[in-house]
Amino acid sequence: MSNLECARKLIDRVDKEIVKLINKRARLALNLAKFKNKEKSNVYVPSREREVLNKVISSKSFLTKESLKSIYTEIINACRNIQTPVKLSSREFKKDNTIIKVNKNVEIGGKKVHVMAGPCAIESKEIMSNIAKIVKNAGATVLRGGAYKPRSSPYAFQGLGEKGLKYIKDVGNKLHMPVISEAMTVEQVNIVSKYCDVIQIGARNIQNYDLLKAVGKQKKPVLLKRGIATTIEELLLSAEYILSCGNHNVILCERGIRTFETSTRFTIDLNAVPVLKKFSHLPVVLDPSHGIGIREHVGAIAKACIAAGADGLIIEVHPQPENALSDGAQSLLPEQFNKLMKELDLVAKAVGRELL
Ligand code: PEP
Ligand code: MN
Repeated sequence: MSNLECARKLIDRVDKEIVKLINKRARLALNLAKFKNKEKSNVYVPSREREVLNKVISSKSFLTKESLKSIYTEIINACRNIQTPVKLSSREFKKDNTIIKVNKNVEIGGKKVHVMAGPCAIESKEIMSNIAKIVKNAGATVLRGGAYKPRSSPYAFQGLGEKGLKYIKDVGNKLHMPVISEAMTVEQVNIVSKYCDVIQIGARNIQNYDLLKAVGKQKKPVLLKRGIATTIEELLLSAEYILSCGNHNVILCERGIRTFETSTRFTIDLNAVPVLKKFSHLPVVLDPSHGIGIREHVGAIAKACIAAGADGLIIEVHPQPENALSDGAQSLLPEQFNKLMKELDLVAKAVGRELL
């Protein structure tokens, strides 16, 4: 055997050892996941991953620190990915960002940040049409409005139902704007998908698995809102229900979670943006209106959402919020929305995106 062949044999032997060790590490990681599960702790612990990485790159090495870091980052990612039960929504499954085509002008998940705007609830054809013109002129690309409203009180306005869907569709058609509205039950899925371009699954229904399967079996894109007490992993598992039924057009939506804080309606979890982006290829939209629940603060949070990497926003707007039948306190006035859109465009540009 020549010296060259000998040297290659040695390398082959080391490669075998390396693969064996990586597999050993993966098995240990899988075992670790069982303990994490038992203790209900997160699979992804960024501080622990940083600690592992720092230890590795501070060891003596022939390779540069950068090379060692990039090799080890891959090993850590691969070991983490086998610990998580999330599959179709994961980056592991699909590396590139998913871009969801709502219609020929609106693609969510690309360079353009889309703003979906409108009233919380569809109240009348006139109000819907008035708000639609305002938000379209300001640069919104999708029209929102609920026809079936999940209200905390059974005595509050419950929505106009199918009549409301007809109004929003008519107005959307006239203005060439795709529309989004919520389906709360399996029975409502067909009817909402008949009138709307995107079906919203609300925070309260994030773990209504029959409803998730029902929207998974139809083709319209789904905006899946995180629940007020749902972890990021649970949000992705809910998305998995829709994806595994064949509908790959899922938009994740962070809309505020419940914390100990009582000075705002909810607490928007900006952390969710980079974390979801890392784990998943699906677009991420944020709802600053419900996220903070206070009109005068919606703008500040909306800007932060874009800076954090949101692919879109969903914002409530009403010309007479004091008379709104739902969520008036968090609905922006037309002039506030107009001004905000210009500011959002600047923030978008600053982070390499576009909005208007
Ligand atoms: C809404 O969009 O008006 C709504 C009810 O949202 P959520 O499900 O996030 O509360
Ligand atoms: Mn609302």
